[in-house]
Amino acid sequence: MSTPKRTPKCPICASPVALRPENPTFPFCSPRCRQVDLGKWLGEEYRVAVSAAPEDEQEDELASHDGQSEDDPFHRMH
Ligand SMILES: [Zn+2]
Repeated sequence: MSTPKRTPKCPICASPVALRPENPTFPFCSPRCRQVDLGKWLGEEYRVAVSAAPEDEQEDELASHDGQSEDDPFHRMH
């Protein structure tokens, strides 16, 4: 097997990152970059929560379907 030894790059600043045993902040080059990534993740999470709003439209569709099926029992009661 040929495994080219590639130096991982910091996803934040793209500078070479030391491997884990000697770098506690792997896969980031420094604690600062790790913090930046953490903030990015939190920001993305927030964006995901906001973009989840369109799912409400689907729920609306389901609700209208429910309304139709609710019609049946009502007619049966009559
Ligand atoms: Zn970095």
